[in-house]
Amino acid sequence: MARVLVIEDEPDLQELLRYNLQKEGHTVTIAGTGSDGLHELRRQPFDLVLLDLMLPDRDGLEVCRIVRGDEAFSSLPIIMVTAKSEESDVVLGLGLGADDYVTKPFRVKELMARIRVRLARHLDETRDAERRRIQVDKLTIDPVRHRVLINEEVIPLTLTEFKLLHFLASHPGVAYGRYDMLDRVGDGDSVVTDRTIDVHVRNLRKKLGEYERLVETVRGVGYRFSEIP
Ligand code: CA
Repeated sequence: MARVLVIEDEPDLQELLRYNLQKEGHTVTIAGTGSDGLHELRRQPFDLVLLDLMLPDRDGLEVCRIVRGDEAFSSLPIIMVTAKSEESDVVLGLGLGADDYVTKPFRVKELMARIRVRLARHLDETRDAERRRIQVDKLTIDPVRHRVLINEEVIPLTLTEFKLLHFLASHPGVAYGRYDMLDRVGDGDSVVTDRTIDVHVRNLRKKLGEYERLVETVRGVGYRFSEIP
């Protein structure tokens, strides 16, 4: 059972989609314009968006771009609904981050099947992300999306900084030497040496602000993640 937002301006389609989605047990919200759709997205949480491309105020591609540009909706599944003549828009839409599309006229059964697939995948990803997430006070390390958040705000880390933090935080209280850390974060491409580990840690601490002391220096050994904020 999911919360589905339908952004579609044709009344017949609105009703068809509402009827079939509700029959599957979903909660349906209808928005007749792109602006209304964006407004609804900011007002309440959704699990999936059905997005018509031809809307009266702004086109669906723009809506898609705005939604994907917002960190809060980065994993929200979007299925585009397009007319056959808009196939070049499909390519654009997928490029902008839509997950799937159907062309009008579509078979309701097929659309419902696609929605089921997307919702199942989204649920899996959300569960996986929650299970693997490391939370210390208001610091969140999300290895699925490769993100670190403080107070729900994304901290822009480099890949190496992220890997370092995630590695240490996965083994709280254990001290690691610089060479151990190198093994874990070196990607084989860029040259990471034991001394550059120190530089990465210094930059990482700076970005962590009030949580910098979570990454402790252990004299004569290396670094350790402290669980006490
Ligand atoms: Ca339309």
